[in-house]
Amino acid sequence: DGVDSTWRAHAGKIGTSALVTFEDLSAAEDADQMRRDFVANVSHELKTPLTAMIGFIETLRGPARDDAGARDRFLGTMAQEASRMNRLVEDLLALSRVEANERVRPREEVDVASILASVVRVLSMQAEARGIDVVCNAPEPPVIIRGDADQLRQVFANLLENAIKYGGKTVSLTLTEHAMLDDLRRPGVVVEVRDDGVGIDPMHVPRLTERFYRVDSHRSREVGGTGLGLAIVKHIVSRHRGRLRTRSQVGQGTCFTVSLPREP
Ligand code: ADP
Repeated sequence: DGVDSTWRAHAGKIGTSALVTFEDLSAAEDADQMRRDFVANVSHELKTPLTAMIGFIETLRGPARDDAGARDRFLGTMAQEASRMNRLVEDLLALSRVEANERVRPREEVDVASILASVVRVLSMQAEARGIDVVCNAPEPPVIIRGDADQLRQVFANLLENAIKYGGKTVSLTLTEHAMLDDLRRPGVVVEVRDDGVGIDPMHVPRLTERFYRVDSHRSREVGGTGLGLAIVKHIVSRHRGRLRTRSQVGQGTCFTVSLPREP
């Protein structure tokens, strides 16, 4: 029996190490697959505007050479395609910057109320152009947390921009000094970005923060989306040890809530 139990213990060890090896392998394969998908997605996203631009250049050098009207139209479209590529590259760079230092917790003193005010200022023209009212409810500045000011500005800019792009008539931003939503013992600040626009079917909500995931690709492209906005938001919020919550109803609107911890 002594021999048997020694053998069993040994076999148990072998079994465990074999299992660990399998798990590591499949995790590495998953990571590899994700990398391949990412490269394929990026290539596709860049190739679409490039192909359109090459087509326009060829037409301008050939059949439309002497047509001033066509030239103006084509140049306008080419400028749009070029800025789409520019936005995509900017978002890719932003994503890789956040991922590169995701484990390092940012510790500058940041005033969230001023950040919201500046984001609203920057995007007010865009909202006005779409006939959307932006209402900002925030306490008098400062509301200080520790974080990375540029990155937090990007979080609220991306959420506000989406609320404008997919929104209805009104967008509201609300900042409250409130405990973290998932842990009421942790002090925090809570920012809500709410719109009364198209809304999102619940089946899509869990995947919204995946890179290049779009509910309606056509609409996203039309409004100038890159499909990376919410992926960037998720990584920045997680770098700040915060939480992102999405509530939405089709035809009613969407509310993204970010809660960020506040150090004592
Ligand atoms: P995009 O650049 O396409 O807007 P995002 O990562 O910012 O990419 O968002 C992913 C998708 O989530 C969008 O394509 C859109 O379908 C959906 N979405 C994001 N925000 C909203 C919103 N406020 N209302 C409705 N749908 C939204």
